[in-house]
Amino acid sequence: MADHDVDLFVIGGGSGGVRAARIAAEHGARVMLAEEYRLGGTCVIRGCVPKKLFVYASRFHGEFEDAAGFGWTVGQNSFDWATLVANKDKEINRLETAYGGTLEKAGVRVAKTRAVLRDAHTVQLATGEEVRVAHVLIATGSMPSYGNHIPGLEYAISSNEAFHLTHFPHRIVIQGGGYIAVEFAGIFAGLGSHVTLLYRGDNILRGFDDEVRQHVRREMEARGIRVLTGCTVAAIDKAHGHYSVHLSSGNEMPADQVMFATGRKPNIAKLGLEHAGVEIGKNGGIVVDEFSRTTAANIYAVGDVTNRINLTPVAIREGHAFADTVFGGKQNIVDHSNVPTAVFSEPEVGTVGLTEAEARARLALTDIYRAVFKPMKATLSGRDTRILMKLVVDGHSDRVVGFHVVGEGAAEMAQLGAVAIKMRATKADFDATIALHPTAAEELVTMRKKTASYVREAAE
Ligand SMILES: Cc1cc2nc3c(=O)[nH]c(=O)nc-3n(C[C@H](O)[C@H](O)[C@H](O)COP(=O)(O)OP(=O)(O)OC[C@H]3O[C@@H](n4cnc5c(N)ncnc54)[C@H](O)[C@@H]3O)c2cc1C
Repeated sequence: MADHDVDLFVIGGGSGGVRAARIAAEHGARVMLAEEYRLGGTCVIRGCVPKKLFVYASRFHGEFEDAAGFGWTVGQNSFDWATLVANKDKEINRLETAYGGTLEKAGVRVAKTRAVLRDAHTVQLATGEEVRVAHVLIATGSMPSYGNHIPGLEYAISSNEAFHLTHFPHRIVIQGGGYIAVEFAGIFAGLGSHVTLLYRGDNILRGFDDEVRQHVRREMEARGIRVLTGCTVAAIDKAHGHYSVHLSSGNEMPADQVMFATGRKPNIAKLGLEHAGVEIGKNGGIVVDEFSRTTAANIYAVGDVTNRINLTPVAIREGHAFADTVFGGKQNIVDHSNVPTAVFSEPEVGTVGLTEAEARARLALTDIYRAVFKPMKATLSGRDTRILMKLVVDGHSDRVVGFHVVGEGAAEMAQLGAVAIKMRATKADFDATIALHPTAAEELVTMRKKTASYVREAAE
């Protein structure tokens, strides 16, 4: 490898790229990484982390309301957006520095600039430097996608800008039905905005279990979020310091901010992929095999840019597996099945495995166990809310193949539910587990009676 400047060049310093660079360096590779914006990538800088900090901020309002039933008188309260943004930024800066420190300690050379491929063995930096490389890892992530052009689209923000608004929007229209749209609807509503969520389809959170989707929608509406489905933004006008949002239904509504969370697309533009023989798949992401190897033998890709499962822990696992396989001498294939996921809406969703619809399409016999109940906390708080818990079970093997919770602590429950599902736990294993009382999660091991059972119709 003497004719190369580095053994590995990583393009992109986000979740997947940073992990891969560090592990490859620890395996003894000479590694260089380029990051054009900020180390840490989407998750740390403008994704999971700042979002969760905002979610925490948004939940105090409900806690203050709930406190009265427990005897508390909460004095006059007020919320200061600028303080939240500044404190969030301080924490993000700390994390960004920590990422830099980790890479430096591992001996990775970091270039704070854009990098593109000139050919399969040459990376060109925006500084003009050219680097001869043995291997390349493309970990450039994804970016917001706005869908079709509409008049006034330039006034709409994406989640990127939502983290840095200079003024708090007292009225916000959010277009989108995916987890980012639903989470920001909860954030802004909790912080005091009047929120309207618009989605072109028939219900929010496509891809999640249908009962989960209905339950979340009902709960969001009960908390004052207006959800309009089968409806989109047709045009945005700016007038007298606010926006006028024209809807596909013909109606019009005023807003201080319009946010589009209408999906994301892999960051592949102008990367020079065509000079290196790296192909793009039908899903818009870089085509990779089970080892994350692209159609060019020495070039690999991990994370959102491959558009497999676009979550941070998946990108990290893929980056780690790549480094172990190529530089650590241990072939490592990432298992993309049963990845747990959450929606940090209010109330939140935690889920892993098959939805009811997926199970009924795949399995000969599907059993459903469901509980909908008032959480203990709501008895004194008086809040009109329900928790939904649902287990989807393979009726023949008794294996629990789907785990869905909507309610406080759902994400934490799903992380542990994922262990059980990964271990191929059966419904009998759940039943044999003694409940932990008093918790909401105990319902998961005490649902004895089947709610429904479905035999798959024979294919014609
Ligand atoms: C609002 C929001 C909330 C989210 N919440 C969650 C969550 O709760 N849980 C979860 O698991 N996931 C969440 N995600 C998804 C998660 O952030 C991504 O799946 C994850 O960051 C993908 O990691 P990555 O390494 O593929 O890319 P990224 O983390 O996006 O990193 C890519 C990096 O490459 C850099 N780059 C791009 N092109 C170049 C170039 N040519 N040269 C140099 N640098 C370049 C970019 O600047 C970026 O820093 C969220 C995403 C968003 C937007």
